[in-house]
Amino acid sequence: MKTGNGCIGSINLETNGNLEKLFKHIKKLVLSEINEHLGGKGEIIEARVEKGEIRDMGVREFRILQGYFFEVYCFKCFRSSFIRLFLESDERKTWISLDIDEWNPSPWFEE
Ligand SMILES: [Zn+2]
Repeated sequence: MKTGNGCIGSINLETNGNLEKLFKHIKKLVLSEINEHLGGKGEIIEARVEKGEIRDMGVREFRILQGYFFEVYCFKCFRSSFIRLFLESDERKTWISLDIDEWNPSPWFEE
């Protein structure tokens, strides 16, 4: 979805296979896409999440079992992206969630 100079994307993945293996694979894919786009001309902030939770209106909806944050600044197209890759669960199931918020161009590059 695109609005103004912002853009968002979201996907949830469930599988009967090895979810942790898929999670690691997606992390590698995300990083290689970022690196390919930047070509060394940018900044990447990578943070590992050990656990957490998602609260909506004060109510815990989901748990975060593990995850990554990537904050990316491209010095070529002046875009900034905020990417969250989480392994999430509720009482019944576990899934992979990938969300992207993007500014194009980013206010961070304006003076
Ligand atoms: Zn770029």
